[in-house]
Amino acid sequence: MDLIENQEENDFRRELKEWLRNNAPVWPQSQTEDELAESKAAWHRNLYDGGWLGLTWPIEYGGKGLPPYYECILNDELGYAGAPPKPYVGYLGRGIAEYGSEDQKKELLPSLLSGDVRWCQGFSEPGAGSDLAAMRTRATASDVSSYRVDGHKIWTSDAQYADMCLLLARTGSPEDRHRGISAFVIPMDNPGISVAPITQASGSKEFCEVFFDAVEVPSSNLIGTEGDGWSVAMTILSYERTPAELGFTSRYISMLDRLEARLRERNTEHDQSIYQRWAECYVEVQVLRNYTIWSIFNGALLTGEGAWSSIDKLLMTSVEQNLYRLSMDMEGAAPLLDCDNSLLGEYFYSRAQSIMGGTSEIQHNIIATRLLGLPKSV
Ligand SMILES: Cc1cc2nc3c(=O)[nH]c(=O)nc-3n(C[C@H](O)[C@H](O)[C@H](O)COP(=O)(O)OP(=O)(O)OC[C@H]3O[C@@H](n4cnc5c(N)ncnc54)[C@H](O)[C@@H]3O)c2cc1C
Repeated sequence: MDLIENQEENDFRRELKEWLRNNAPVWPQSQTEDELAESKAAWHRNLYDGGWLGLTWPIEYGGKGLPPYYECILNDELGYAGAPPKPYVGYLGRGIAEYGSEDQKKELLPSLLSGDVRWCQGFSEPGAGSDLAAMRTRATASDVSSYRVDGHKIWTSDAQYADMCLLLARTGSPEDRHRGISAFVIPMDNPGISVAPITQASGSKEFCEVFFDAVEVPSSNLIGTEGDGWSVAMTILSYERTPAELGFTSRYISMLDRLEARLRERNTEHDQSIYQRWAECYVEVQVLRNYTIWSIFNGALLTGEGAWSSIDKLLMTSVEQNLYRLSMDMEGAAPLLDCDNSLLGEYFYSRAQSIMGGTSEIQHNIIATRLLGLPKSV
């Protein structure tokens, strides 16, 4: 199974390929965290200026209003070109586009798309990751026109570079669980917000803790109405979980090709178990790609339809982790000894796939209860 395209789609793909040949960046391995953030921002800008972002977003908010399939072509070609993926903050835009007021959409979406304003996603808290509804960060209405926010977020990616945060905070009582949560947009330079980057074992400081101490937020910064926060979050997460972005599969196919070339180069007959594992990865990638294409043509994933995206995420996590484990085993000690070898960092990052955007266990629970209709555990 593969993609069948009409003339316009095919022309679009050809034009994009040509653009990527001249514009896809190769980032140096040894970038500092700040340099990497700048590289990501420059790539965001470059994609936007090239006219490749917001393909399916409405024209009035800076998008191109094209059918969802164009987004697939973009992701697919980025993957084949070995280019960095498109900026992930687009998921936040989906939440704002679906729940924001007309004024908010006009004000926030164009600059989010262009990358002029950088965003972070303030959902997780210590004690409220998988169980997001247990969050304790509070937004208390000070008067009719504003809220006061107090609390502590964690694992907030790129918060140290963000201008704006899409924040979830409790506006109801803890017993209300997910019904008592609201979503706000908050400028990160508001008095009372402090950001503390977390240094990981790899040395990277991708995530931060973010503290909110009596932060004043106008009521007009509420996305949707009070209590809509859970729906906003689930909309964003369902887009985040889905690699309906064929880009993942084209990236894996390119990786399989490289591994195959490496295996042929080594030409060692006693590598049977490695050949076997390569073949298993090949089958997994094809299953993922076929499932993704099937989903695209059935309209399930690109509309971010909640529970179906959990299947995609699980498949993609398995493929990615198996491919990187295989790569590491094939390279022996080299990635551990050579500082310029990027494989070790990529291998570590593949481990995060089963955590970010909701852990694999949680995806299994969603599939069991919402797709298979099994009872919730007691
Ligand atoms: C690379 C990366 C980027 C991230 N970026 C962001 C970000 O920008 N913003 C943000 O808000 N968060 C971000 N996160 C945080 C992420 O969403 C959470 O780590 C994730 O939801 C898991 O929550 P937790 O870490 O609190 O783990 P826990 O919820 O404490 O889970 C610990 C373990 O218990 C298991 N478990 C928990 N509950 C159940 C259950 N009911 N059934 C079965 N098993 C269960 C989990 O699967 C896991 O194995 C990021 C995480 C990563 C890895």
